[in-house]
Amino acid sequence: MQHPTRIAELISRLARLDAGESWAAELNPAQRAALDYLSRANRFSRSPSHVAAYLGSTRGTVSQTLKALAQKGYVEEQRSESDKRVIRFALTAQGEQVTALPRALTEAAAALPDTAHDTLQAALEQILGRMIAANGGQPFGLCHACKHFTAEGPGGFCRLLAEPLSPEDTNKICHEQVTV
Ligand code: SF4
Repeated sequence: MQHPTRIAELISRLARLDAGESWAAELNPAQRAALDYLSRANRFSRSPSHVAAYLGSTRGTVSQTLKALAQKGYVEEQRSESDKRVIRFALTAQGEQVTALPRALTEAAAALPDTAHDTLQAALEQILGRMIAANGGQPFGLCHACKHFTAEGPGGFCRLLAEPLSPEDTNKICHEQVTV
């Protein structure tokens, strides 16, 4: 088998095995993926359309997924103070708890030698970047690596949204992120 085909097969199988773990928490893989996204996303990136853009899904499908997660007590809906039409979702304590559980995939990656981590991460990021570019998607990169980020105050400052950022915000992913 050619290397690219084998690599694609391995990534796909790893994703399926990882998604299969979600059933242990009585979540289907789509619900688990949405929950994981919300645990990583900053406060500007938690609307149903942001979740849909990240997961490459439709707004309608994601709305159903978020509704099911809310019914199970993993997320809660929040309305923007400035515009009540704007809906965001945040993890509840139960949601935080389930996303903090150790995952077999993370543990398997941690068992690799340190020297393999940088190389593997860089290669996977390149593959992901090409897939996103081919699909016309957004990168959803880390805030501290964004061209709009400036180190100011305890965490930083977003020049695009004119908002102060906490140290925790700077390690979250954002729908507006543009890598420097
Ligand atoms: S600096 Fe960039 S990533 Fe961070 S909040 Fe602003 S737009 Fe989003």
